[in-house]
Amino acid sequence: MPKNWVIGFPRIGEQRELKKALESYWSGNIEAEELLNVASILKKRHWNYQKQASVGYISSNDFSLYDNMLDMSITLGAIPKRFQDIDEPLKRYFAMARGDKKRVAMSMTKWLNTNYHYIVPELSKDDNYKLDISKIKDEYFEAKKEGIDTKINLIGIITYIAFSKAIDFEDKFDAFDKLLCIYEELIGEISSFDKEVIVQFDEPLFVKDVTSKELSLLKIAYERLANVSKNVKIAVTTYFEHSCEAVRVLSHTGIWALGLDFVYGKKNKEVLEDIQKSGKILIAGVIDGRNVWVSDIDKKLKLLKDISNLIPKDKLIISTSCSLLHVPFTLKYEKKLNKDIKEWLSFAVEKLDELDITTKLFFEGEGSLNEEQKELLAKNRRAVHFRATSDKIHNDKVKKRVEDIKSFDRELPFEERIKLQKEALNLPVLPTTTIGSFPQTSELRSVRREYKNSAISKEQYDEFIKKYIDECIAFQEEIELDVLVHGEPERNDMVEYFGEMLEGFAFSQNGWVQSYGSRCVKPPLLYGNVSREAAMTVEWITYAQSRTKKVVKGMLTGPVTILNWSFVRDDQPRSVTAKEIALAIADEIDDLQKAGIKIIQVDEAAFKEGYPLRSTNIKEYEKWAVESFKISTSVASDKTQIHTHMCYSDFNDIIQTIEDMDADVITIETSRSGNRLLKVFQEVGYKKEIGPGVYDIHSPRIPSVKEIKDQISKLLEVLPKEQLWINPDCGLKTRKWEEVKPSLKNMVEAVKSFR
Ligand code: GLN
Ligand code: ZN
Repeated sequence: MPKNWVIGFPRIGEQRELKKALESYWSGNIEAEELLNVASILKKRHWNYQKQASVGYISSNDFSLYDNMLDMSITLGAIPKRFQDIDEPLKRYFAMARGDKKRVAMSMTKWLNTNYHYIVPELSKDDNYKLDISKIKDEYFEAKKEGIDTKINLIGIITYIAFSKAIDFEDKFDAFDKLLCIYEELIGEISSFDKEVIVQFDEPLFVKDVTSKELSLLKIAYERLANVSKNVKIAVTTYFEHSCEAVRVLSHTGIWALGLDFVYGKKNKEVLEDIQKSGKILIAGVIDGRNVWVSDIDKKLKLLKDISNLIPKDKLIISTSCSLLHVPFTLKYEKKLNKDIKEWLSFAVEKLDELDITTKLFFEGEGSLNEEQKELLAKNRRAVHFRATSDKIHNDKVKKRVEDIKSFDRELPFEERIKLQKEALNLPVLPTTTIGSFPQTSELRSVRREYKNSAISKEQYDEFIKKYIDECIAFQEEIELDVLVHGEPERNDMVEYFGEMLEGFAFSQNGWVQSYGSRCVKPPLLYGNVSREAAMTVEWITYAQSRTKKVVKGMLTGPVTILNWSFVRDDQPRSVTAKEIALAIADEIDDLQKAGIKIIQVDEAAFKEGYPLRSTNIKEYEKWAVESFKISTSVASDKTQIHTHMCYSDFNDIIQTIEDMDADVITIETSRSGNRLLKVFQEVGYKKEIGPGVYDIHSPRIPSVKEIKDQISKLLEVLPKEQLWINPDCGLKTRKWEEVKPSLKNMVEAVKSFR
């Protein structure tokens, strides 16, 4: 039996070849044939990377032209009605993913706590599911031609259903029986591929709090699936947390193996005995599949030794903790990264070597390594040691500052400070504002790029940015907005901008990670203690303030969001890192208010994203996340008004936490859900001020005055006007000026009639 396993491999390509091919195809520049050709080259290349690193179990069907959940819907024949009349499979596939002229796309949501988004299956009561094995079969035999017998990656039935939405019936699990038949048929078909085929069913649903219904269906499903064919061996994998409840159930079914995450699911150790008793194979995820730092191989060996106290070595396979989809592809193209920092990093391709070496060491000892691997191991040990001690990472001053944090409350309670603020700001009722950014034109982007590449001078750059700010301010004055912004022209991205100016962050050139479809993100690498050397925003904000008598709102990204959108060092608790960032932001707030800025917004767009998968861990997260926000904002004097912004509307379960953050004003997204979601603010007696977005900025549509008036009336049914602000849903950077100008004009117009 081979000794190691990779849950899945990135597919976007080491130079984002798939992204480029997809976008060319969508814009009509290449034919389907060429797209498929690129896909096939990539698949082969990815298999060969794994083969070279002697991965024992390599996957097929982990590749996807858009998303593997969508692929699963195609396999099962779960095609929503509106797409059924499209005959050409590829056209239909992309219509489902992206919509077309006549049809809205299927919706998209986050894959557990990652930044990967999957296409949400739509189940309908009169669906006629029908197996389509073509993709699975093609890929299996494509790999076989390369000399690789792959395991086949599939989304498990329970996760598939739980992550879908039922559009015309109550309980989505009503679809279970019908779908299980298709899954059985699928196993039947797969059994004819070879003498023996291995199938990996991903069931990450079970790392969340599970219901007894889900567990009982899990049992039924895998009992039946394991019974379909003797020559199909089933592995069920979970990741990102422990899945103890599911393991206890699955050990009593006929499946062959269980894949568990021992990096993020330490509690999985508690079920080792159950696995041992069941005699099943354990696929032990020990190489971190979702963070970017080198593995401490010696520590991994210790962990494996612990595990093998209960699981005999011949029942053990070593694995990545999850699919490598969540990390960048390779370090090969990183030419600018600091040499030391680069040594501390390990992307997907490098992780394959770590897996290989760990496997050889664990099963056969150091003698089994070849010269190159011995060198890699020595390098690994050096990097681990250096990382533990380097003064690049360990800044005692910062550490001490975090330890010394004593209080993080504003001086006065909200009820009192809001009076001071009202006096200082002198705003009308229902004050109008925006969330921060104004349109990022292609000209603006190219000016920033040119400046970065030293193609234009600092003076030229500054002049351009000033002109942009001048125009923003003039426009906002003209339409009579109350609280103005500078428009964020100097920012490429709300996290990257700050990361680039803070100590402790590094940036890759090619560290792209797929977010959805062809879209990739390149998260900052937060490797060391974070601190702020110099002011980051004061120059631009004060410039903007100097151009107007109205109040200009300072704009910062909050510590929790900076943390949640970066690859964060794994050698100290996230809570500590969050507080370091918080102190840096506090320094900035202090400078802004000293420079005369009266309102400061601290965006926490990704606050909710960091929530743990298991409810038992929520309290702890909320505690340090709220603390971090308050560490940043409590330097504000009582007269300085602190705003925060969050990009979603579902606050029901976190309303108390929002209140605890103690921001004076919060702007949120509600335009798409009416005031239904706002009721919770009323129900809990929320006292602070709220700016529920009155129109949707995600669409190019220009809202009419009447529409916005209706929206405001609805808000006033729920909350008193003294408590309300009027603003759009989110930042305007993705919109065009032609859309922004009339929309904001209408917004201000609509407010007037309520004053
Ligand atoms: N201030 C940011 C902007 O307006 C907020 C962005 C966000 O919430 N994602 O762009
Ligand atoms: Zn937003």
